[in-house]
Amino acid sequence: MNFESILLPGIDPKRPLVISGPCSAETEEQVMATATQIAANGIKIFRAGVWKPRTKPGGFEGVGSEALKWLQRVKRETGMYTAVEVATEKHVYEALKFGVDILWIGARTTANPFAVQEIADTLRGVDIPVLIKNPVNPDVELWVGALERLYNAGITRLGAIHRGFSSADKNVYRNIPQWHIPIELRRRFRDLPLICDPSHIGGKRNLILKISQQAMDLNFDGLIIESHIAPDEAWSDSAQQVTPLALKEILASLIIRDTVQTTEDLSVLRGQIDEIDNSLLELLSKRMRVSREIGQYKLEHGMPVLQTVRYDEILKDRAEQGEKMDMSGEFVKKVLENIHEESVRQQLVIMEKAGK
Ligand code: PEP
Ligand code: MN
Repeated sequence: MNFESILLPGIDPKRPLVISGPCSAETEEQVMATATQIAANGIKIFRAGVWKPRTKPGGFEGVGSEALKWLQRVKRETGMYTAVEVATEKHVYEALKFGVDILWIGARTTANPFAVQEIADTLRGVDIPVLIKNPVNPDVELWVGALERLYNAGITRLGAIHRGFSSADKNVYRNIPQWHIPIELRRRFRDLPLICDPSHIGGKRNLILKISQQAMDLNFDGLIIESHIAPDEAWSDSAQQVTPLALKEILASLIIRDTVQTTEDLSVLRGQIDEIDNSLLELLSKRMRVSREIGQYKLEHGMPVLQTVRYDEILKDRAEQGEKMDMSGEFVKKVLENIHEESVRQQLVIMEKAGK
């Protein structure tokens, strides 16, 4: 895929590209007051949910098309661009009719290929930036699939929004970041703009600065942050919204590290990493060779491939060892699980061949 820029005329290409505004458009007064204050602080793109996908019925489901008139007023009176979430064909028609500048697809919608295809088909022939939030589940392919559906419909001004992933476990985050997933997206599509949504990742306003800084350090292009004139009274997501003033302070505190130049020192260190990676690969291949010998032994002695007790011991023992060596036990466990998976696969190949 070859993406075109999502930067609209007059938007500074400097990081971060900032989109802000309330979770939901509630009243004309709330929308106008929030918009006026954030515009005065230099924000150029105003977000507001008009149709809200709620987990259960009965919650505030958005004002609907009526609110699109307020967004038109925001454009007219503040000069900001506007962005809304669309989930159906009707939403797309309505948003375009009222001159919305940027569309985004919410996490619940991205998880549903039928809905994404419907939006893509409706947008065929329209030139508008579309931002796609990650699906609620940590599946990079589903995220890529949604991007492809839009791209195949001729939408080339695409961006991705990382809003974290749902989890049943209680966690400091509302949606766990799992940064490796947007990083994988970046690895595959170098020129796809990546925007972080610290509001939905954190779920609490005091986490927004930290998550935004992490996103900047991971070279994200932009931030979408929920702001509200009176956050505590917000009709949706009140705990995670910030006042226009707090937004200004968050943005002013961010440290943007933009140096791309490789220093001498860094190239020496990178050389060391290359060497260590080589040694790691050689060690791994040695380990696999021993593993295959064990497989051969098991075959000759009629033993099964999987020996659960031994595997449990290895995991526990190595995780403890790893922690003593300044690594997270969880990380060491994951690495070993992957190595074990490959060992088992190789031993199964030996059994299979013998069976033929
Ligand atoms: C939102 O942006 O208000 C929203 C509903 O987010 P998400 O789709 O990430 O849950
Ligand atoms: Mn929200």
